Amino acid sequence: MSKRAYNFCAGPAALPEAVLQRAQAELLDWQGKGLSVMEMSHRSDDYMAIASKAEQDLRDLLDVPSNYKILFLQGGASQQFAEIPLNLLPEEGTADYVETGIWSRKALEEARRYGNVNVAATARPYDYFAIPGQNEWRLTPDAAYVHYASNETIGGLQFDWIPQTGDVPLVVDMSSDLLSRPLDVSRFGLIYAGAQKNIGPSGLVVVIVREDLIGHARTVCPTMLDYKIAADNGSMYNTPATFSWYLSGLVFEWLKGQGGVAAMEQRNRAKKDLLYGYIDGSGFYTNPIALNARSWMNVPFRLADERLDKDFLVGADARGLLNLKGHRSVGGMRASIYNALGLDAVEALVAYMAEFEKERG
Ligand code: PMP
Repeated sequence: MSKRAYNFCAGPAALPEAVLQRAQAELLDWQGKGLSVMEMSHRSDDYMAIASKAEQDLRDLLDVPSNYKILFLQGGASQQFAEIPLNLLPEEGTADYVETGIWSRKALEEARRYGNVNVAATARPYDYFAIPGQNEWRLTPDAAYVHYASNETIGGLQFDWIPQTGDVPLVVDMSSDLLSRPLDVSRFGLIYAGAQKNIGPSGLVVVIVREDLIGHARTVCPTMLDYKIAADNGSMYNTPATFSWYLSGLVFEWLKGQGGVAAMEQRNRAKKDLLYGYIDGSGFYTNPIALNARSWMNVPFRLADERLDKDFLVGADARGLLNLKGHRSVGGMRASIYNALGLDAVEALVAYMAEFEKERG
């Protein structure tokens, strides 16, 4: 097999090679049934078994309590920006949002279309390089929910703590850090994540929602966006993203085989320690994020002279280190190092960074 590149893309992101190989082996003829998963009825026994195994494996991986439903929906994380207020925010109610970057801002702007939004805290005074501590938050006592993004994929800003919101349900966008380390699901009312980072291919968003939050959708809420309809129909009110769901199931199996989220935490810690350690020690590369808010998954960094950016990227590509260009809104570089990338990928990146610094720094 040809040697695959190290893909540092923020999403759609690298998938485990073993998962791709398995999907390839099963593509034409799934388990001797003479057809591919893509060609199966979602109502067939075979597909239902694939779907429920994926759900059970995710439940096992995150130890999801039995009073939570897991939904496999479409429309990406962005659709949840609307779906959440349509289901959880009563017309006269208020939702609290914490703004730490582009994604949490998009979520709160969308919610404003549906009701009162209170920006309970913002990282703006910190130039989005640090997360305001909860002592700075102005929470609404009877808010319908509190929303935040645990990891800002573009800014590279991640919570290393879970907010305390008492009886007010906590809603979190975990698109870019779900499954990267253990998580106490019971602290949340709703967790959602677009699949195309740590879960599987795009076309799917996973929603883990406490049962008592289901069944309160507004009358104007489209049927397709009503959590109750989705939950009552096992996420198959309409035809789901069958192949993405199947492939995510293969990723969950792979994760279990790797030792689950505890093993991922160890591996991800080693990866980010190596990369940040190198950046901080270099004097040529910088990362501006406060130490306690540095993302384990998305590491933005700058070169001392941005005129070298292009050469850096050309050299990286030539070495099979792909997609290191930072998001257009922040510039510089960004290395996304999700579960599917091993320590070897970060070692290869750091070796290249050191070589580039030596030659051009
Ligand atoms: N939230 C976060 C934290 C993200 O990183 C992204 C996508 N990069 C989104 C939401 C939007 O996801 P989608 O493209 O699945 O709508």
